[in-house]
Amino acid sequence: MTSESDTTRSAPSRAPCSRVVALLADYLEQRLLPAQHAELTRHLNDCHTCLAQLQTYRSTVSLLRSLRDEDLPPDLRRTLSLFLDHRGPN
Ligand SMILES: [Zn+2]
Repeated sequence: MTSESDTTRSAPSRAPCSRVVALLADYLEQRLLPAQHAELTRHLNDCHTCLAQLQTYRSTVSLLRSLRDEDLPPDLRRTLSLFLDHRGPN
């Protein structure tokens, strides 16, 4: 006998982690609709897994942004600018 699905018991308004992670970049860039932004904020308030992902992502981005060209050896500068280009224009 299969067990009753208990996914129906979880709060219907809570986004799944996979959705939250997929939207993290847009969340940090403030590109989400207000309702989506609120949804992610609510999820992050009680999901340590996604919160850790957010913090990792944020610190990586801010580290990259805080680096100035003159601080970097040429090879690393090239690598980073490629990486940033792949993230799209800011
Ligand atoms: Zn989560």
